Amino acid sequence: MGMSKTIWNSPAEYIRAHPDGGPVLFFVPAVLQQTARRFLGGFPGFVTYAVKANPDPIVLQNLVAAGISGFDVASVPEIELLRAQAPDAVLHFNNPVRSRAEISRAVTLGVRSFSVEARSELEKLVAQVPAGAEVSVRIALPVAGAAYDFGSKFGASAALARDLLRRVEAAGFVPSMTFHPGTQCMGADAWEAYIREAAEIARAAGVRLRRLNVGGGFPARRKVAELPDLERIFARIGQVTREAFGPDAPALVCEPGRAMVAESFSLATRVRAVRDGADVFLDDGVYGGLMEFPQIGATDRYEVRNTDGALRRGAAVARIVFGPTCDSIDRLPGTLRLPGNIAEGDVMIFHGMGAYSTAMGTRFNGFGNLEVVTVLALS
Ligand SMILES: *Cc1c(COP(=O)(O)O)cnc(C)c1O
Repeated sequence: MGMSKTIWNSPAEYIRAHPDGGPVLFFVPAVLQQTARRFLGGFPGFVTYAVKANPDPIVLQNLVAAGISGFDVASVPEIELLRAQAPDAVLHFNNPVRSRAEISRAVTLGVRSFSVEARSELEKLVAQVPAGAEVSVRIALPVAGAAYDFGSKFGASAALARDLLRRVEAAGFVPSMTFHPGTQCMGADAWEAYIREAAEIARAAGVRLRRLNVGGGFPARRKVAELPDLERIFARIGQVTREAFGPDAPALVCEPGRAMVAESFSLATRVRAVRDGADVFLDDGVYGGLMEFPQIGATDRYEVRNTDGALRRGAAVARIVFGPTCDSIDRLPGTLRLPGNIAEGDVMIFHGMGAYSTAMGTRFNGFGNLEVVTVLALS
């Protein structure tokens, strides 16, 4: 994977020029920059990007160009990547469990914001991080409304969070809080529950929060019929924060991954075979760019084009769709409605595929080499 030297007008133009090419991610920089500006203009606080959703340098460079200056990182390689791509960026090390060596390297590389959710991990920060750094206590609630829940691995209970906040302040750190509501939350209910809980915990601890980081979890468009309303979620986050904290309201931070990057990439896979006229075999699957589908379901935002780049418009037929590897779990969930005249050599394009696609792919069975191709528009 890497940055293509050539910019194409559209996927159709590229497909015509590559009648038997492999799987491709089509990238539209303008869409990524537009999304970044939507967050910057609408979110009532500091907007950072969760690097793990798509760490491709072409993504990071376009986000910086659009005005994103903060990044959520989870590992030393991610910190080093950002220092190489955007030396002045503000980095938040919000993976709450780190080795002592990782903490030391992060401090050396200028990281001054960390999250924490356990006493043992806070003491590691106290020992190694200079006073004055920000430490955000991460909480977890049992909430519904996400495609999958992030609270089952990380996050302190209310009682523990209260003690941690006091210790953070006593150690001379800037006290903040954070949570992650779960990924792909279509409504604002999860944020509302978390913000109210954070306010209660801070009040019980007697600590005035400097900042509240409301995580990622913002929705991308995964269904034709669903248009996520980010502005409504932003407004609700701002309003609930004012209500819950009153005049002492902390500054807000968000760290979207999926919603920032998803829409700017489409994944084009080649039909390797239509087995005896029935099941479809693609050249990428759940070990590659479609890795998330078994967990959160397949998107219905896809189209099929022939080798001339023209849309197949045959009446839809439900088909089983497999990826290329020899593992039987390499199958998209359920069936997908595909044009009845779909044929070997066609290209199936999935839209909204910028998040957790290139980042998660493997080279299992020799497949998974996804080329990134820049296009001016996706249709
Ligand atoms: C993964 C992650 C994010 C991004 O989540 P999305 O659902 O992709 O927006 C943000 N913050 C933290 C701490 C994460 O682990």
